[in-house]
Amino acid sequence: MDARAPDVAVVGAGPAGCAAAIGLARAGCDVVLYHRPRTSGSNPGEIIESRVRVPLAELGIDVVFDSLDSLALAGNVSSWDEEDTVAADGMVSPYGLGALIDRSGFEAWLISEAERAGVAVVRSGKRLRAERSGALWLLGDPAERGRRCIVAPLVLQATGRASGPIGPSERSAADRLVALLMYGPMPDGPREHNLLIEAAKDGWWYAAPLPHGRAVIAFLTDGDLLPRAWAAKKRYFRDRLAVTRLIRAFSKSLPPDLPLVGHPANSTLRQMMRGNGWACIGEAAASYDPLSGRGVPLALSKGAAMARLIVGGDSISRAFEAYEQAERATFEDHLEQQRVTYRRAAPRFSSTFWTRRKNEVGATHLAR
Ligand SMILES: Cc1cc2nc3c(=O)[nH]c(=O)nc-3n(C[C@H](O)[C@H](O)[C@H](O)COP(=O)(O)OP(=O)(O)OC[C@H]3O[C@@H](n4cnc5c(N)ncnc54)[C@H](O)[C@@H]3O)c2cc1C
Repeated sequence: MDARAPDVAVVGAGPAGCAAAIGLARAGCDVVLYHRPRTSGSNPGEIIESRVRVPLAELGIDVVFDSLDSLALAGNVSSWDEEDTVAADGMVSPYGLGALIDRSGFEAWLISEAERAGVAVVRSGKRLRAERSGALWLLGDPAERGRRCIVAPLVLQATGRASGPIGPSERSAADRLVALLMYGPMPDGPREHNLLIEAAKDGWWYAAPLPHGRAVIAFLTDGDLLPRAWAAKKRYFRDRLAVTRLIRAFSKSLPPDLPLVGHPANSTLRQMMRGNGWACIGEAAASYDPLSGRGVPLALSKGAAMARLIVGGDSISRAFEAYEQAERATFEDHLEQQRVTYRRAAPRFSSTFWTRRKNEVGATHLAR
């Protein structure tokens, strides 16, 4: 067994896990960050709103963020409440412009910042199993009979929508949203760009150029409204893209048969998010509909907040309780804002997707 005994083990090296690890290490804690690299692609989440600079500044990495190879997000152009488009200029934000990032590069950068802050990063493809031994957690690969174990009194699970090694993984889901995403090449253009958002009959779309001459187009709809077979899903996507206005114009220069990837995108809350010496942070605790546009900034803020709470002098159980309260309140607030936003576009359409948004989405409609 490894002799290392960190104060905190963080499992999952996305924005929430890296922020917590950096915050804790900067405060003098001994931290191990367990990074299981994804086997295919990266997470969606390339459009970063300008408020991201608040948690990045707290972690001391905002200046480097601004020098990353991203595009500047000039603002939004949307067709939501009505068919006409509305432009919102990012210039007026007190935080500066947002960014369009290369998500894999951004995550690799966060991990490198964690290492620079003194975090020990363990990279492994193995799925960890957790066991409790007295006041410690032992995290290791069961096949290796305890060798190369991480031993720590505290574990933060920052595994995103995946369940992670500790605790029951049941989540309450507020809706059935899924994303179909298409990534493709886009001719290089100016450094400043808009995010395009368009409400449509069976869901809504977003599209944006990305660094390195790439672009993303995403269609968000309810999973049960999609055909089952993948070929039929592709047709469904293409047929609906053909009747959009903003997104169709944007996608004109893309090759016709790019692959699609699917991703869950619903708002969910983990029912049990903390226990003896462990807690979930970021999307491991609550996931958000991408309409919120706040996923990455919020995950960074939550990681930084958890680090602050742990080193803040209260008992660990009080710190975890305070985190859970904030997490639940933020989620309720998110559901309310989401309900209001969807209801603005809903009168334009009579499809199942929008009828559900008129009636179902809201804090009181959480269902397993
Ligand atoms: C379709 C879609 C589009 C989105 N677009 C945006 C956007 O444009 N802008 C934005 O700000 N947000 C966006 N989001 C939300 C954003 O991606 C998330 O809010 C954010 O990634 C959450 O960060 P996290 O660190 O909590 O989780 P994640 O980013 O999911 O990170 C979790 C990490 O843990 C790892 N992991 C999982 N299981 C294990 C395990 N057992 N052991 C070790 N590691 C593990 C994963 O590989 C991953 O590296 C979008 C979400 C969706 C679904």
